[in-house]
Amino acid sequence: MIQRTRRELIREGLAAMALASVPGCASLPSAPRRLLWRNWAGDHECLPVARVAPRDEDELVAFLRGTRGEVRPVGSGHSFTPIAATEGTLVSLDRMHGVSAVDAKDRMAEIWAGTRLHALGAALGRHDQLLTVQPDIDDQALAGALATSTHGTGPRFGSMSAYVDALTLVTPSGERVVCDRDRDSEVFHAARCSVGALGITSQVRMRNTAPMNVIERTWTAPVEDVLAQAETLAAEHMHMEFMPMPRSGLSLVMTTDPTDMPEVDLHEDPTSVEQLRAAWHAVGGDPEIYRAVVWEALGEGASDFRTGPAFLVRAHARYTRFREMEYTVPAAAGVACVREILDAIDRAELPLVFPIEVRYVREDDIWLSMFEGRAGCTISIHQFADAGPHAAFDLIEPILKRYEGRPHWGKMHTQTAAELRERYPRWDDFQRVRQALDPQGRMLNPWLERTLVTESAG
Ligand SMILES: Cc1cc2nc3c(=O)[nH]c(=O)nc-3n(C[C@H](O)[C@H](O)[C@H](O)COP(=O)(O)OP(=O)(O)OC[C@H]3O[C@@H](n4cnc5c(N)ncnc54)[C@H](O)[C@@H]3O)c2cc1C
Repeated sequence: MIQRTRRELIREGLAAMALASVPGCASLPSAPRRLLWRNWAGDHECLPVARVAPRDEDELVAFLRGTRGEVRPVGSGHSFTPIAATEGTLVSLDRMHGVSAVDAKDRMAEIWAGTRLHALGAALGRHDQLLTVQPDIDDQALAGALATSTHGTGPRFGSMSAYVDALTLVTPSGERVVCDRDRDSEVFHAARCSVGALGITSQVRMRNTAPMNVIERTWTAPVEDVLAQAETLAAEHMHMEFMPMPRSGLSLVMTTDPTDMPEVDLHEDPTSVEQLRAAWHAVGGDPEIYRAVVWEALGEGASDFRTGPAFLVRAHARYTRFREMEYTVPAAAGVACVREILDAIDRAELPLVFPIEVRYVREDDIWLSMFEGRAGCTISIHQFADAGPHAAFDLIEPILKRYEGRPHWGKMHTQTAAELRERYPRWDDFQRVRQALDPQGRMLNPWLERTLVTESAG
């Protein structure tokens, strides 16, 4: 039984009364049946006073107009931080999904913001369209992915936010703002990567591409060879990433390119990362023997491939829960930064065997995007969810910061608003728009207060 203070009870009572008066919300769970919310990695949770899931934009507008207090929109909870958590009202757009209109000539589609990425492959395919880029999983809600400038890989491709042509934002006071490069362009530049701090995105027009079949090739090679060729490989392939395996001296390389092969073969071994951990433990954490075991098992040149429609091949199964920190450093500095990180892990004799993921993303002009004004190399450090991440993250984060890294908005980091402001030339512009749209700070939770607002001059 959860004990609540008198103040909390009053707050819940008022919230319940306000909600009951909003169309579509009266039937939602009332305050005494508060449900725990938890993110995918399982390390952040909250007990929202209420959860609402509007059926359409009118209900979303009515909810925001008819209520007060803290509000956080949530997608699929795949961020590694409490960015979406709230003790106020959690708003899910799960019922606002699907493709609502298409522009065949310019290959664009209007998509409801709650649509999960895995639903878009078939839905867009029916209109001869495909998302131009995708992350390495497809569980996210479209608006959730856009709010953090979620990306795939390839120096010719921006993050998903770079393919937003227009969007509809419902502000905290319940006004609808339709923005694009010409209409409310300041809102547009802020809202394509909004961290959910400007209001609730209800609909997005995405610039898409033609559906294609692709072949994904994966192979292993000595990490020094991969570092030497990384930029060339990235330029030669449609998508390319590499995954150095710490303590082993090997790296995985993954490229994806269009193919005429009609076969669909999506096999993958979701236990492969667990096998690295098992090997590390089996040899008692002896780095020499671990290295020998990994080389014996994966060896130089071990290779594999998958084929099929791009929207299926780009998405991977992630059965092993992990925590992740990711920073984007300037693209040209990526290789040097990765080399320094691997050296630091070896020198510190860190028991970190989870592969690091290195990707390339084109620059954009989205105010809070990690790629604003500079092409980026993204470096992701993972640790198993049941192992403490801090030894690794504390060692590596200072290196990423020294390379002028910008942390991914959906992944772990320790930076405050004051530090981040130094990294984003358009930070104050974003704050100006945020304050105009949300003067009462309804959209802020404690994590956003610390990361986005406190100590910022805006
Ligand atoms: C296994 C795994 C793999 C991942 N792979 C990648 C990857 O390849 N590339 C990459 O860049 N990232 C990746 N991520 C990170 C992930 O894409 C981001 O954290 C993304 O924001 C999660 O989307 P979501 O729908 O779960 O949003 P949530 O985590 O639920 O929310 C994220 C943000 O979106 C906001 N939001 C949600 N809905 C709305 C809305 N309607 N209007 C306004 N704001 C809204 C929330 O308030 C919050 O600020 C991965 C994460 C996991 C767990």
